[in-house]
Amino acid sequence: MILVGLTGGIGSGKSTVSLLLEGKGAIIIDADAIVREVQLPGSPVLTELAAKFGSEVLAADGSLDRQAVANIVFTDPDALKALNAIVHPAVGKEMNRRMIEQRTTDRVVILDIPLLTENPREGLQGKIVVDVPIEVQVERLVNFRGFAEEDARARISRQATREQRLETADFVIDNSGDLESLTAQIDQLWTWLVSLPQLPADYEPITPTPNAGPKSPNKNT
Ligand code: ADP
Repeated sequence: MILVGLTGGIGSGKSTVSLLLEGKGAIIIDADAIVREVQLPGSPVLTELAAKFGSEVLAADGSLDRQAVANIVFTDPDALKALNAIVHPAVGKEMNRRMIEQRTTDRVVILDIPLLTENPREGLQGKIVVDVPIEVQVERLVNFRGFAEEDARARISRQATREQRLETADFVIDNSGDLESLTAQIDQLWTWLVSLPQLPADYEPITPTPNAGPKSPNKNT
C-alpha cells in the first residue's frame, strides 16, 4: 500500500480530485463520509449523541440533525469537546480498519481529510494540498454548492489559511483553472504517487492524538 493524505479548504476541489484519483485506481478513504456513516440511525455513536445532547439532536426520521448539533457546539466549547470525544474515536477506528484492509495490497490509498492541516497525522508518505485563491473557493461554493456568500466566507475563515496548508504540502494541485487543467495535474500526481515506496504489509496506522480542543481549554487555570 502507498498511503497519502489529501486536503484543501472547503470548495477547493478535494472531492473532485478524489473522484479523478479513484478513476486512476486509487482507494479513497473519505473522512467526511465516514463521519456520516458512523452516525447513521442504529449506530452506537448516534445513541451516545442522543444520550448526551437530548432527543432534540434527532430528526423526525431518527437520523442525526446535524444542524441542531452544530447549533449546540457553535457557542459551547465543552459541548464541542464532548461531541468530538464521542465521534472521533469511532471515525479513527473505521479509518484504521480500512487502511489495514489495504495494507497487504499494492494499491494507492488516499486519506481524504478536510482538516488534515488543522489535525496533523503521522505515518503518511505524503500530503497533497488542493490550492485555490479564496475568491475561487467562494465563487464555486456559491455557484455550485448553493452557499450564501457570507456563509462561504465565514466557513473559509474558520479553517487553516492557504499558507498554513501549503507549508505541509508534498504535492500541490493548483485548482484555480478549468477541469482540463485539473485533469492534466492529476496525471502528474498519479506518476508521483506510484513512484512512492510500498509500505510494509504489517503497517500499523497511527491514530492522531485527539485535538486539544479550543485554544483556551480551561478558563480557570
Ligand atoms: P471540496 O470537496 O474541496 O469541498 P468540491 O470538489 O466539491 O470541493 O468542489 C467544489 C465545487 O467546484 C464542486 O461543485 C465542483 O464540481 C466544482 N469544481 C471543482 N474543481 C473545479 C474546476 N477546476 N473548475 C470548475 N469547477 C470545479
